[in-house]
Amino acid sequence: MTKEKFMFKCDVCRQQYQNGPHRYEGHRLKLYGDIICCDSCWNSNLDGWVPHFEPILLEHLKQKGLSVPERNANERLPRNWQNQ
Ligand SMILES: [Zn+2]
Repeated sequence: MTKEKFMFKCDVCRQQYQNGPHRYEGHRLKLYGDIICCDSCWNSNLDGWVPHFEPILLEHLKQKGLSVPERNANERLPRNWQNQ
């Protein structure tokens, strides 16, 4: 029996989140080069990333040489591929 938790730092908001065992709060952001965000980022940016986080996401894209995703109807950077 292990009580060890697997804690990670969210790539977007830098808060810690748990990813195993029993709780899995990490969400892979394929659009942004497979960075991983926490549950609270994922759930609160369903309609696109709040402008506050844009510089962080843009920096990840730049580092990985990815192009900036098309903005959604709310003029925000999409959270991920549609329906994901
Ligand atoms: Zn987060």
